[in-house]
Amino acid sequence: MTTTPQTGSPPPVAGRFAASDAEVAARVKALESLMIEKGMMTEQAVDRIAELYEREVGPHNGARIVARAWTDPEFKQRLLEDATSACAELGIGGAQGEDMVVVENTDDVHNAIVCTLCSCYPWPTLGLPPNWYKYPAYRARMVKEPRAVLSDEFKLNLPDDQEIRIWDTSAEVRYWVLPQRPPGTEGLSEEELAVLVTRDSMIGVGVVPEPKG
Ligand code: FE
Repeated sequence: MTTTPQTGSPPPVAGRFAASDAEVAARVKALESLMIEKGMMTEQAVDRIAELYEREVGPHNGARIVARAWTDPEFKQRLLEDATSACAELGIGGAQGEDMVVVENTDDVHNAIVCTLCSCYPWPTLGLPPNWYKYPAYRARMVKEPRAVLSDEFKLNLPDDQEIRIWDTSAEVRYWVLPQRPPGTEGLSEEELAVLVTRDSMIGVGVVPEPKG
């Protein structure tokens, strides 16, 4: 059974980069050529990394962790105490996930992540960040007026009495979110639960939807 989560795609956050996508792609290509030419990396290495993040590493990993935490209280405890070690129990870890911290959403507190400096993100569990995660507007507004950003850009309207905590994910510590288990999922298996978990819910710009039907 596959456990591909419903990653979805949120509406674009206003205020994209000044450069067009084509311009950014051209710059990346130029840097890549230069680094290969200087012997700093190989074409095969670039292909391998692209393949890894296209096919193997992505939010389905985080979804497996979340589903395990929902069904195994002792695992959840370990996850909240030391996320890097707990993820390693399921064989998940590696670059850009050396020091992960998982923060738990509850009825009282909703957590979300941002990298105010650039685009730091827990790659082993969530894959590569969505483009909007890197936009200056998301990075700046999310710390200043998170309730408005969640409502305006992601159509996520949280109860007024639910506190919002924003975690600045950095090169040192990669935060990500343990979302709340939705109602109506009591009878579901760990694998069935993993399918429900969205990327956005682990960033904190969404919540896990109740199962349909
Ligand atoms: Fe960053």
